[in-house]
Amino acid sequence: MSTLARIQTHRAATVSVAIVSTLLALAAPIHAQQRGGSQAPPPDTLNDPVRLMVARLDLEKYKATIKGLTQFGDRRQGTERNRKAVDWIEAQLKSYGCTPTERITYTYTTPPRRDSTGRGGGGRGRGNTAQGGGRFRGVRTPTGVNADSLKQPNPKLRALDTPQTVDGERQEVFCTKVGSTHPGEMYIVGGHMDGIGWGEAANDDGSGTALVMELARVFSSPDVKTDRSIRFVLWNNEESGTNGARAYIAQRDSLQGKEDPPGSGKYPEPKWLGMIQHDMMMFDHGMPRPDGTMSPEQRPEADVNIEFQVTSKQAEGAQKLAWFFQTANEKYATDYPARVGQHMTNTDSGPFQDLVPSISLRENERGEQIGAGWDPQWHQPTDLYSTYNDKDFRLGLNAAQTTLGAIALLTGATLVK
Ligand SMILES: [Zn+2]
Repeated sequence: MSTLARIQTHRAATVSVAIVSTLLALAAPIHAQQRGGSQAPPPDTLNDPVRLMVARLDLEKYKATIKGLTQFGDRRQGTERNRKAVDWIEAQLKSYGCTPTERITYTYTTPPRRDSTGRGGGGRGRGNTAQGGGRFRGVRTPTGVNADSLKQPNPKLRALDTPQTVDGERQEVFCTKVGSTHPGEMYIVGGHMDGIGWGEAANDDGSGTALVMELARVFSSPDVKTDRSIRFVLWNNEESGTNGARAYIAQRDSLQGKEDPPGSGKYPEPKWLGMIQHDMMMFDHGMPRPDGTMSPEQRPEADVNIEFQVTSKQAEGAQKLAWFFQTANEKYATDYPARVGQHMTNTDSGPFQDLVPSISLRENERGEQIGAGWDPQWHQPTDLYSTYNDKDFRLGLNAAQTTLGAIALLTGATLVK
């Protein structure tokens, strides 16, 4: 071995130790949990329980769950198809053993019309500044919400998507994996089940909803034990302005960490340790070409974008959480890497961002990339299950592997005989 080779070998060993130490060091300040801390022996990769849990995620199961959601068309909030989708999701959660399921009930009234998206400028931001901060670079193509029924060429789907929103009562469903040693503390893992645009909302946000459901399935297995609790929430009314997440906060923020009834060991609303949102997980074909067309294939350098909001009150904890997820991606995701960005915006983690460390996982950066037209299916009739192939579905699966790995470490998940 040459001196150079020896130095390189030494450096490689130092780096791998550094990665493990970083994982442990990051876990510590997020909450007080430590299983041996830096004194722990190096992990047994072959028998790593987290790796075994991640292996229970499956591309075909993930695809089947997305396909199941698309039977309810775009699942627009305030419609019968949206309510049927909530019922279907609840039935799946029960079948996984994630019981009891619970619902948040609230009332939604459509605010006075501002523009076609209700969010300003087709989700693009102003001038050269993207929503959430950051700058647009390179080629940009138009974005917006399709409101024209005739743009949906499939008459069956067009008929399914025809009934429009009626103001009134809304519901959204969640279930909880109860921690065995700290049941009164939890991470919230979310995706939004409603969609818009006269398609099937397969990617936005069937892909994030299915990811959360698949994690509920894996964590609800009888042989999985966690120290802390995990709540799986399928938000409604995201597309109208994150109203489902806001209703949850309004009803449950003040209940955090309270044992009820006293002495029962039950915590209806465990203390929030972090909020992790999943929104549009599958399509990263790159920047639009100069002529406005897109690469038909997932780009090989596709990545999962983990975003926190640098201007939020919880930015310090949120960015630690984001880097923890990036490190979990390096350890557990099979195909695609993850990148961290500081401009999280326009999703259900937004209402939580000043209350608790909050991040979102997405196929692209929401402001700079989605806002510049990187996803031509976004809120369009082409957001159909049949639009995507396995390279697209696999990006979503890699995000699922990332969150499962990170949440398993953060909650002290183990496999029991
Ligand atoms: Zn969305």
